[in-house]
Amino acid sequence: MIVLKFGGTSVADAAAIRASAEIVRSRLARQPVVVVSALSGTTNALIGIAEQSAKGHLIGAVRAVEALRTRHLEQADLLLGGDALEVASEMSALFDELAQLAEALSVLGDLTPRSRDAIAALGEQLSALLVVAAYEKLGLPAVHVEARDVLITDDQFGRAEPQPDAIAAAVRAHVAPLVRAGKVPVMGGFIGATATTRITTTLGRGGSDYSASLIGAALQAEAIEIWTDVDGMLTADPRVVPGARLIEQIGFEEASELASFGAKVLHPSTIAPAVRVGIPVVVLNTRRPEGSGTLITFDAPRRAVTAIAGKDKVTLVKVKSPRMLLREGFLRTMFAVFERHRTSVDVVATSEVSVSLTIDDASRLDAIMGELRELGDVVIERDRGIVSIVGAELSRHPGTMADAIRALDGSGLHMLSLSATGINLTVVIDGDQVHPVMARLHEIFFPGTG
Ligand code: ADP
Ligand code: ASP
Ligand code: MG
Repeated sequence: MIVLKFGGTSVADAAAIRASAEIVRSRLARQPVVVVSALSGTTNALIGIAEQSAKGHLIGAVRAVEALRTRHLEQADLLLGGDALEVASEMSALFDELAQLAEALSVLGDLTPRSRDAIAALGEQLSALLVVAAYEKLGLPAVHVEARDVLITDDQFGRAEPQPDAIAAAVRAHVAPLVRAGKVPVMGGFIGATATTRITTTLGRGGSDYSASLIGAALQAEAIEIWTDVDGMLTADPRVVPGARLIEQIGFEEASELASFGAKVLHPSTIAPAVRVGIPVVVLNTRRPEGSGTLITFDAPRRAVTAIAGKDKVTLVKVKSPRMLLREGFLRTMFAVFERHRTSVDVVATSEVSVSLTIDDASRLDAIMGELRELGDVVIERDRGIVSIVGAELSRHPGTMADAIRALDGSGLHMLSLSATGINLTVVIDGDQVHPVMARLHEIFFPGTG
């Protein structure tokens, strides 16, 4: 068995969906299970609709609903022609539900994480219906599997935690028998539901990759293929460094670090389920299916620098507490604040009198600050950025690290940290310096690539 995940651009329109069908066909002998994202841009549009509605801008929201409806129905028509009726009515029912949700939100004037998920999840529900119908029409034995019957999660709306045992049981019940019967199960990624109450949840933005690896792990698949709009994992984000090169093989740990520090090509949680079961993950380009992509495995070649990742809009939090820092339990107390507010900490550095750390998600910062002030003086610096240099052998090459640090001149270095495993050198710099620093580092470690 093999899991194929098609991202938003890989199912963006009729032509892309047809191309994905050919990829599935080429792998029929390997018993594929397909996980699809929403049509590209749909999740953003849905979240926009939810936010607009809650602000009372119902007319704009309804207009956006109708634009999405038209786009989906047009693609259905292109793919299915006269046979589009059934899927068009199923999709229309979802759009009617969306319009009702928008209206309800405009009355309530309040957007809860739960209702936001109910709306954001519609993108993958729609794409799964459309893709199944298209695949059937194209002669593939595709069968729709309702993702919310399989991807069981807790109730942390917006970033729900999958429950691997429940997922494994659901996969055995709903997915594996279809594969054994020669069918191609197709399900939406990104979305799930709570265990007993079956309320819709999402795994966080970009979460379809994670769905694919969870399903792959539950099926003990031979591989998980992530089909996207670039040739594989590259030495940097090609939107920032146009000359970034393909990495043919990369270690699980390196890929995981890159994903956590900004390489959007993979959701940061994708690697963990695959590693647990030892399933290789392959990243491939839907537009160039003949390419070899990037193979993520245990036994990749070990390099000093494999790739560079970066992200901006990072918040730096500094807590100064001369009296308390060295007391036992201080760090635990401090991190418990972040844990209580479900905010994950990315980079940490400590000195005798202060702790500095970064967070990505500043939505709960006010509450966090309130509690941290009881521990010491708190300084918040917004608009910071992180750049990470990742390589399995990085710590064995101090000269490489020295070169990297020299390249940071003028970028406002705020923190520097070498991961315990020695494969990731991370710096916190001014947010507007992230792209120029990535380009500079890339030129140093991958010269001549522009
Ligand atoms: P999908 O919709 O297929 O999930 P995403 O937009 O989530 O696609 O991820 C693919 C994008 O990730 C690429 O278009 C690229 O701009 C970005 N990206 C960031 N870092 C990297 C990297 N190191 N290698 C490849 N792509 C990267
Ligand atoms: N459609 C979701 C998003 O845009 C999930 C995904 O594409 O992976 O975040
Ligand atoms: Mg993605």
